[in-house]
Amino acid sequence: MSEPIIYEISSPGRVGVNLPECDVPESTLPTDLMRDDLALPEVGELQVVRHFVKLSQLNYAIDKGFYPLGSCTMKYNPKVNEDAARLPGLAQLHPLTDIEGSQGALYLMYELQKWLGEISGFEGVSLTPAAGAQGEFAGILMIRNYHVDRDEPERDIILVPNSAHGTNPATVTMAGLKVHELPADEEGNVDLDALKAACEGDLRGRIAGMMITVPSTLGLFEGHILEVIETVHEAGGLMYMDGANMNALMGVVKPGELGFDVMHYNLHKTFSTPHGGGGPGSGAVGVGDKLKPYLPGPIVDIVEPAEGEDDAPLYGFVMPENSIGRMKAFHGNFGMHLRAYAYIRVYGDSGIRDVTRHAVLNANYLRAKLMKTYKVPYPRYCGHEFVMEGHFDDAPDIHALDISKRLMDYGFHPPTNYFPLIVPEALLIEPTETETKEALDAFVEAMEKIAEEARTNPELLHDAPHTAPVKRLDEVRAAKELILCCAPALPEGGD
Ligand SMILES: *Cc1c(COP(=O)(O)O)cnc(C)c1O
Repeated sequence: MSEPIIYEISSPGRVGVNLPECDVPESTLPTDLMRDDLALPEVGELQVVRHFVKLSQLNYAIDKGFYPLGSCTMKYNPKVNEDAARLPGLAQLHPLTDIEGSQGALYLMYELQKWLGEISGFEGVSLTPAAGAQGEFAGILMIRNYHVDRDEPERDIILVPNSAHGTNPATVTMAGLKVHELPADEEGNVDLDALKAACEGDLRGRIAGMMITVPSTLGLFEGHILEVIETVHEAGGLMYMDGANMNALMGVVKPGELGFDVMHYNLHKTFSTPHGGGGPGSGAVGVGDKLKPYLPGPIVDIVEPAEGEDDAPLYGFVMPENSIGRMKAFHGNFGMHLRAYAYIRVYGDSGIRDVTRHAVLNANYLRAKLMKTYKVPYPRYCGHEFVMEGHFDDAPDIHALDISKRLMDYGFHPPTNYFPLIVPEALLIEPTETETKEALDAFVEAMEKIAEEARTNPELLHDAPHTAPVKRLDEVRAAKELILCCAPALPEGGD
């Protein structure tokens, strides 16, 4: 950035720290490492506290209200997870601590691997990928290496439905493979004819696999999933499941048992670790027997003592035989592993199933209520989320974005806008399992009022939000031309 950062509340000489007298001999710092062009703010403690508290209050958060951001599973993060992740013995454990000194942490990771495998029906799990997208990348690299090792390097095509999350085709491209897009049929399932044409036609020998989200990003369970899996396997391809929507499956359906070969979990979605500005995430991957030797490492296993030694077995790190390698420094985002561990532990077996059932029930409740006022393109039972169209035939100037911005005036976080791409003016709504009926009813009431305003007072929607600290942003410019300031009040107009 060329312009120096201006801290308006800085005042020369003001300090927020009070250091004790120096009780060691002073020495000079190497001058070549010293910089005097850093415009650091000079502020007192109270000003710092007020500044950050004010910022936090400008922010919308799951702890403040309903946050139905579809595809993201912005679920409540139980505070006990945070306590677990902050236990000093775990939080302050250095990643280079020796194996004997990290047995407790390794035990937790081992158990988490086991439970994730159990929940999804996979033999092997690696916790190392740092996000869903990195889990996808790991999965596609495993598939690629699997074919290369079987002397079929010409398999370079991954089938991807057109409802897919943008990371899916991006992952395929980054892994050096090619995307072949599949259309959806009228019910929102993968078009089986198109799938068969790809798997049985000219491309047959080039199919490396298929990436599919279940339930799909339309919130719909793929009606022909077994047939889809069989068709791809038949053609010699492997099946990748994007597991971002496990909130609609865990405790009820195991993707490994359906026949999937590999899947990523978004621990920061399904297993409640915070995300969305609060990251980092964790995109653990699970695999069946074919891909187990390719898992990214290191993974935690029980390591038996060497021959002739009578030490007890210990938890230790191992690299799988044909591992695609490391995805990340050290062992992945351990703090996220702890939160997911705590989450699963607290709920237990039947609790995990209830999470899914309530997530699906809440989504279907909202869908049934909102279908009276909004167009729902696929009016069948949904999973944990559903998609609506944010426009009305008799209010042609109103778009999904106007509805979302107006929702902010009613105190709600907007749903996901304009995704999935195959639905015009899409509003993707995911209530999650922890919301009460009262919260859902209040949301429905606001959405109904907005639908009425769209007809009677469209300007109200076009000018929304009216209550937010900033209005409609030029999001691209805001990200590219960052202006940092501490201004207590934002300039007129706010944007
Ligand atoms: C969130 C999401 C991803 C990507 O996960 P990140 O953790 O954000 O990288 C992939 N697919 C679907 C369907 C998602 O919802």
